[in-house]
Amino acid sequence: MHDVVIAGGGPVGLFLAGELALSGCSVLVLERDRELSSPVKALPLGMRGLNAGSAETFYRRGLLEAIMDASGADEREVGADPCTSEAPAPRDVSHFAGMGLDAAGIDASALPFRLPSPAMEGFMTNLEAVATVVAERAAALGVEIIRGMPVTAVTQDDKGVTATGGGQEYRGRWLVGCDGGRSAVRELMGFDFVGTEPLFTGYVAQVTFADPQQLPLGFNLTPTGMYLRTPFEGHLGMNDFDGGTFDRSQPLTREHLQAVLRRISGTDVMLTDVHLASSFTDRAMQVTSYRKGRVLLAGDAAHIHSPLGGQGLNLGIGDAVNLGWKLAATVHGTAPDGLLDTYTDERHPVGAAILDWSRAQVATMKPGPNAPALRKLVFDLMSTRDGVTHVYRQTSGLFHRYDLGSEQPLVGRTAPDFRFTDGTRLGELLRRGQGVLLDFTADRALRNVAKGWEGRIRYAAGPVRNDLGFTALFIRPDGIVAWADTDANPEALQQAATRWIGHPQY
Ligand SMILES: Cc1cc2nc3c(=O)[nH]c(=O)nc-3n(C[C@H](O)[C@H](O)[C@H](O)COP(=O)(O)OP(=O)(O)OC[C@H]3O[C@@H](n4cnc5c(N)ncnc54)[C@H](O)[C@@H]3O)c2cc1C
Repeated sequence: MHDVVIAGGGPVGLFLAGELALSGCSVLVLERDRELSSPVKALPLGMRGLNAGSAETFYRRGLLEAIMDASGADEREVGADPCTSEAPAPRDVSHFAGMGLDAAGIDASALPFRLPSPAMEGFMTNLEAVATVVAERAAALGVEIIRGMPVTAVTQDDKGVTATGGGQEYRGRWLVGCDGGRSAVRELMGFDFVGTEPLFTGYVAQVTFADPQQLPLGFNLTPTGMYLRTPFEGHLGMNDFDGGTFDRSQPLTREHLQAVLRRISGTDVMLTDVHLASSFTDRAMQVTSYRKGRVLLAGDAAHIHSPLGGQGLNLGIGDAVNLGWKLAATVHGTAPDGLLDTYTDERHPVGAAILDWSRAQVATMKPGPNAPALRKLVFDLMSTRDGVTHVYRQTSGLFHRYDLGSEQPLVGRTAPDFRFTDGTRLGELLRRGQGVLLDFTADRALRNVAKGWEGRIRYAAGPVRNDLGFTALFIRPDGIVAWADTDANPEALQQAATRWIGHPQY
């Protein structure tokens, strides 16, 4: 029996598998597809924007460089002058319903607790690049991956979960469904999945145009929908406000795509060939709880929404880094009471906010007299300093705050990348997936507290280049600040460590 069986080896399932293995769990991934590579995962159809929050997560596990290399993303300048206390101005790749963010307008002084780091900004990647890197990491950590194995049945009892695939039974103490938007695990286990029905059918396709000059590059809003032409030759996106009625079991023919494109674009553009195509909708649904007994969900299996604004993968990576260490501690029997339930408590609100963010974008695109007025209003607001800063806060993935019950404003947020004077950064200390105690005054009392969690909490002491006014911080394995202090109080540290890591081993 494995500690954890994961149904679905997409980017979220494979990243989660690596997180669990990093924390010492035995993990089996059952993946439906025989091959990791597929034309729909590679460029241009597989193109995905990762936000700074995901870049930061990958940096903290030592994966950022490999993913950027595999994505062909530009080398970044790491935090300008490493001696400066100032974080560089934000840069960003996101948009709101096709309206790009003018990053130069962001008010950096309104962004709390930033320090220079190799992961200050998002970048463009593709599904294949991300999945390849996280699959290699999972395999290197001993994760067993069986491909060509769709999970078709799941049952659970007091001791574990049985997943059936290809006539075989696979047993795990826990099971996580990471099997995408049409999750079989979600369906089979009867998770409540609630939300709103679609207004449009979306299409992405790789085509040959006879007369591409008829279609301007970029997002084009028309009285009947939206079409997008990217700089990749023949790469086309469309939103057709048909109430999401296109029957996805039908093949996507050249005739159908051409008819939709002509109707939306108001041109007589000719598609001479369709090489690849897929469709989606803006249905926005989320499970009410991410856990049912010994079965959990992460990524698209837990929430679906339109791809507008590019947030689904970011959301799933956030789920995985939040869940991995909590489930591992539960497997090892060291988890404090209720730790696993904080997964739903923390991630459900983040998912709900992204669903609303995507709904708001759909509202500014819906054909009719209201959307253009709403769109102009949003555009005007996004052109202000406060407006663009607000959008950046929502989309960059760096400024969400989990409610951990503390009034200290850094608690519940992702930790700034503190840098010791010897050059070591917090991001490097998080690489093993353990909690980290940062002790800037090398206080003996704090060190003694940390000793109670030897092997579970990394202790790092010494002066940092910029301490942002703190003397000590306790960072959870997912990089979230659990405790931040200005007068190094050992009792408060003891409480925070017990709450998140469990009882100390004296
Ligand atoms: C056009 C488009 C553009 C997008 N752009 C962005 C973007 O820019 N930024 C962003 O963050 N997100 C974007 N997204 C969303 C993003 O692609 C998804 O949120 C992300 O792929 C979800 O990852 P996942 O691992 O949860 O699910 P998936 O990527 O769907 O992976 C699920 C895996 O489970 C496997 N599987 C399915 N059923 C079973 C089964 N029964 N048993 C075993 N295995 C199974 C599948 O083969 C697959 O490998 C976009 C989506 C679309 C459609």
